[in-house]
Amino acid sequence: MILVTGGAGYIGSHVVRDLADRGYSVLVLDNLTTGHIAAVDKRAIFIQGDAGDPKVLERIFNKYSIQAVMHFAASCLVGESVINPLKYFQNNVAETVRLLQKMNEYHIKHFIFSSTCATYGIPNQSTIDEKLPTNPINPYGKSKLMIETMLKSISESDDFNYIALRYFNVAGAHKSGEIGEAHEPETHLIPNILRHLQGEFPYIEIFGNGYTTPDGTCIRDYIHVSDLSAGHILALEYLLKNKGQKTAEIFNLGNERGVSVLEMINLCEQVAGAKANVKIQPRRKGDPPQLVASSQKLRGVLGWEPIYDIKSTIETAWNWHQKHPNGYK
Ligand code: UDP
Repeated sequence: MILVTGGAGYIGSHVVRDLADRGYSVLVLDNLTTGHIAAVDKRAIFIQGDAGDPKVLERIFNKYSIQAVMHFAASCLVGESVINPLKYFQNNVAETVRLLQKMNEYHIKHFIFSSTCATYGIPNQSTIDEKLPTNPINPYGKSKLMIETMLKSISESDDFNYIALRYFNVAGAHKSGEIGEAHEPETHLIPNILRHLQGEFPYIEIFGNGYTTPDGTCIRDYIHVSDLSAGHILALEYLLKNKGQKTAEIFNLGNERGVSVLEMINLCEQVAGAKANVKIQPRRKGDPPQLVASSQKLRGVLGWEPIYDIKSTIETAWNWHQKHPNGYK
């Protein structure tokens, strides 16, 4: 059985569904502070609780034979992390320490970790590969890098195996239209544009148009949530297949294509067939100008290939928002 923390969240719920489709038994542990019970695949066992709660973890590890842990549960908003850093060190670092301690006690040795491109900070290279030095500029990125550092140390001292996946910007929804992105309040670019185009807000805010990029707005690399999920399953199978050998790897999960905020608004307008009103706002604290992945390592080692391009990614998101204008409510 695979334990998925945060399996009721946006990314976790897609991975749980894909795991179940591939025949894995899945146990979801989620405290539902931001996740949605309706997003959890019915084939998974669900337990409500914190990812680092020792009592809950003991109950799970005593009852089920857990082969690997996929750890999605985290706070993950750059802007919020600048305003409330302690929340990030508590929810991301402290909770993960407790989870790793319990895994250690119960000899569970395989771990897939949700990391982030925010660990790189402001890279001086247009595409980012895993060898680039890390220098996060916000508490969110710092909290994730702290965990990567811990994982490396644990793997050096023990037969502990892990893969950390550094996500770029995750977007889109499941092709069924049954699960998708539903944050309240929503801070992410694509859902905000689409919800504006549906008439939910009067305008879309652009956080800064004076960056050192061709059109002045921030450039990000958007990856479809199902392509991201496929990367997790490949990583899990790599870990489980290579059981006898030490695995301590970091992979970027991105599409190698940068899209600016203005380009994204334009693409969403095309998909939705509606015109956006934009409002230029000051920069959001903690935002680097450009983050674009090299995914060569993931392609080479795990044989990963994305299926979705940016347009089809937006189309799946639009389909989800059309079918679920109130998210999971
Ligand atoms: N952004 C924006 N307006 C919004 C939401 C986001 O201009 O309503 C910008 C944000 O400043 C960043 C990019 O869009 O440059 C992607 O932001 P998002 O919050 O989606 O992801 P992040 O890169 O912070 O993980």
